[in-house]
Amino acid sequence: MKTFINDLVSTYLSEYGDKPLESCIITPSKRAHRYIKAELMAQEDSGFLPALYSIDDFIFKYTPLLRIDEIDLTYKLFEIFKKHKKEADFDFEEYLSYSSILLNDFNEIDIQMANGKDIYAYLTDVKAIQLWNPDGSPLSNSQKEYLKFYNLLGFIYSDFRNQLFKEGLCYQGMAYRHFAENILASFEQLKYKNILFAGFNALTKSEEIILKKAQQIKKAKILWDVDTYYLNDQMMEAGFYMRKHKKWDFQLESQAKSHFSSLEKTINIIGVAGTLGQARLAAQIIEQEQKEQLEKSPEQAKISALIPADENLLLPILNSFSKTAQENTNITMGFPLEHTHAYTLAQNLIKLHLHAAQLDQGKHHTLYRSELTAILSNDLIKSLNAYKTNPIKPSFQKFIKPIEVHALLQEANLEQLKDSFENCHNQPHLLLEKIHFLLNTVYENNQKSEIELLEENETDALLQLINTSKRLGSLVTEHDQPKQLKGLNILFKQLTIGLKQAFIGKTEKGLQLMGLLETRLMDFENLTILSLNEDILPASSFSNSFIPADIKHEFEMPGIQEKTAVYAYHFYRLLQRAKNIHLIYSTTKKALSGGEKSRFIKQLEFELLKYKSNISIKHQLLSFDDIKIPQKKIIRIEKDTSIMNKLEELAHKGLSPTRIISYIRCPLQFYFQSIAKIKETDQAEDIIDDRKLGDAIHKILEDFYKPFKGKVFPKEKLAPFLKEIPQLVEEYYAKEFKGNTDSGPNYLSLKDTSYYLTQFIKYEIQHNSPLEIIGVEEYLQRNMKLENGLLVKIHGNADRIDKKEGVIRILDYKTGAVDAKKIKYLEDPKKPNESIFTKPDYDKAIQLFVYHWMHKNTSYQTAQSGIISFRNIKNPYIMLEGSENMQYTEELFKNLIQEIFDKETAFEAQDKEDKICDFCNYRNICSK
Ligand code: SF4
Repeated sequence: MKTFINDLVSTYLSEYGDKPLESCIITPSKRAHRYIKAELMAQEDSGFLPALYSIDDFIFKYTPLLRIDEIDLTYKLFEIFKKHKKEADFDFEEYLSYSSILLNDFNEIDIQMANGKDIYAYLTDVKAIQLWNPDGSPLSNSQKEYLKFYNLLGFIYSDFRNQLFKEGLCYQGMAYRHFAENILASFEQLKYKNILFAGFNALTKSEEIILKKAQQIKKAKILWDVDTYYLNDQMMEAGFYMRKHKKWDFQLESQAKSHFSSLEKTINIIGVAGTLGQARLAAQIIEQEQKEQLEKSPEQAKISALIPADENLLLPILNSFSKTAQENTNITMGFPLEHTHAYTLAQNLIKLHLHAAQLDQGKHHTLYRSELTAILSNDLIKSLNAYKTNPIKPSFQKFIKPIEVHALLQEANLEQLKDSFENCHNQPHLLLEKIHFLLNTVYENNQKSEIELLEENETDALLQLINTSKRLGSLVTEHDQPKQLKGLNILFKQLTIGLKQAFIGKTEKGLQLMGLLETRLMDFENLTILSLNEDILPASSFSNSFIPADIKHEFEMPGIQEKTAVYAYHFYRLLQRAKNIHLIYSTTKKALSGGEKSRFIKQLEFELLKYKSNISIKHQLLSFDDIKIPQKKIIRIEKDTSIMNKLEELAHKGLSPTRIISYIRCPLQFYFQSIAKIKETDQAEDIIDDRKLGDAIHKILEDFYKPFKGKVFPKEKLAPFLKEIPQLVEEYYAKEFKGNTDSGPNYLSLKDTSYYLTQFIKYEIQHNSPLEIIGVEEYLQRNMKLENGLLVKIHGNADRIDKKEGVIRILDYKTGAVDAKKIKYLEDPKKPNESIFTKPDYDKAIQLFVYHWMHKNTSYQTAQSGIISFRNIKNPYIMLEGSENMQYTEELFKNLIQEIFDKETAFEAQDKEDKICDFCNYRNICSK
């Protein structure tokens, strides 16, 4: 197979091969440089290689400004803000909530050579128009503040750049802009007479100026990698940038190849469930390929690539590989720091101290037991003395005192960590010292050990975080910001969350496991791409910026269309020379992304086949059973006598629908919550979340309906109540949140509560016929006798029970999203596996069924159960469908309760869906 790198080296040799010391090659990134060097040596073994630069390295080498990182930029920008805000107590924490967005915007403005001052002036005008009151009423104080903020941005942008410039410093966009604005002077200082730019596609405005100018002054040649298939079809996103470039580089069109129409290809499109399914399938494909390649020449073995479009698949893939496959794999992709044990350890220590400082205002330095457990269960801490189990035993106590912590550390032979858990008095620099100390202790221990205790990526992550905590510590002391742990928590996350560890392989042989962006310039005969799902490839269009898409468009900055075009190019470019292609997507539905296969696959299926007949496309859907899944480590708790006693206690006290749902989601989670009674971490933030919004609605409606219990509800009461709602909501919030509701999330929640209630009562006025209120917050209870004679109490409160048109309705208020399709029995005696009791998504249907079942005990009248959904305000009553299947459901329900109390059935970790574990508060304990 003739690759782009073959072409690049041939072009270089024919154009500049006789003057290597006067020539350089510039590429979009340096990932492919090792391959270019190898090819140069293979084609021309003269001993002199040209200089190779990524565009970034090239610009910074020839720019008189020094690049500084995000930590320094964040503090420098804060100083500028302080100057403009003229507020002595300008809040650093508030500033952190938008600082990184602003830094990104500044970078983009500069790299795209846009006029920052004009953009921010335009933005301010747009915001002013949005706030303008047509009735002439003046702006409120908060609206004025809002406008003032936007008004400042233009000045801050200019001052920030000027200040950095004065100090000889810059960020990436500033350096590119400076190079492009001084293009002739910039080129004059180059020691190279010839430049070959190769493999570029999406150029920023500054890059475009640099390439164009270099070409005009005959210093440079540009080598594009493009196929006529997507270049000539105006509708294809992949050719978007190339079509733009061909307007100024007249050689582009002649360089276009026609691989899609000339080469034979087999494209296998395979849908498989979830992360694990994809990883396992990839391992099967790769192992098969490697086996075949072993039988061929070793040269053949270097032309396979595995590309997980979602980098979170890296570890599942490696875990699915056999030892031989791992040894023959060269990983060239960044691994997110946040997925390492080192990051979790640092983050958990921050959380522990943050919450300790908030509890009792830190006076008695009490720690949350569960948070301490999470730290001591971390694999890195275990590496210190290699104990196998967590020294903290399950306990009823939610908190733990320092004296108990010391005793516990002593017992676990971890006394050296004592300082890490002592009071840091809400002082960020002291906490950073503790983080530094803890991570360093683990690192040093690993270094001293004769056997390798930690994986290589964990030691790299430790080093990265040790350096970050040290640097941050000196900046926090120098600037005396942030002043509290809350701010440090935000800052630490902000500076570390996007960091990646370089996983750079040492050889170009074997399977190349790499990220999509790392594939630039490279070609592979055998290609496997994973996670070809919408919102992954192409990535979601969400953009974190203060500059709206239409203003970006106005100022010729790239928007969603351009970003999608970049992904499309990478995808099609990879495909153009490949021969055996596997495109794998997940069939698992996700709440946000919808789990849809990528539109790129759909395009191939519909368009590529029409374009060329010697491309064969096969489509397969595999189930889990088609792929051999490695045996998982089963986490199980056997029901010994003490657990059986606790279960009996629970049977007497009663099981609520919520607990039953928790068991269906994961029996182990149910065990932690209801038997071991390990408390979930409290949300210490002082904000009103969705749950609290629900509480407010429940309470206000309870107070309203309660006086009419047992009576026909007087419909004429609704209209006056409607008028009172804003006042009632404000009173409720003022009482519950002690005045902390004038701004921020609390204010928004208050407004949401008022809105939902108002809309609901309006609906009631319009649609409701006479109604009898039977119960409000009505306690329902029913006992179930198990086979062993144990009586289990099932109980719960129904929000409202009423009677309408002769039918009793047991109603539950819901403020979260409700999928009406999931409010049904879904029982079929022939398909017990489709029971609502096996599907966590049907939690609301289960809850309604249990209410119905409990109510049946007390009343033999016709009844229905349902939800009042405040989000679905056009049709808020969603009733449980399919009650003809109730009897069968009842049998399954009894089996379920029987199972919970069955001595022989252990509590096991769930294996239904990964997302259940993602949202589980016991993740750290369970270590699944
Ligand atoms: S992390 Fe997953 S397996 Fe473990 S308890 Fe939670 S839901 Fe169950």
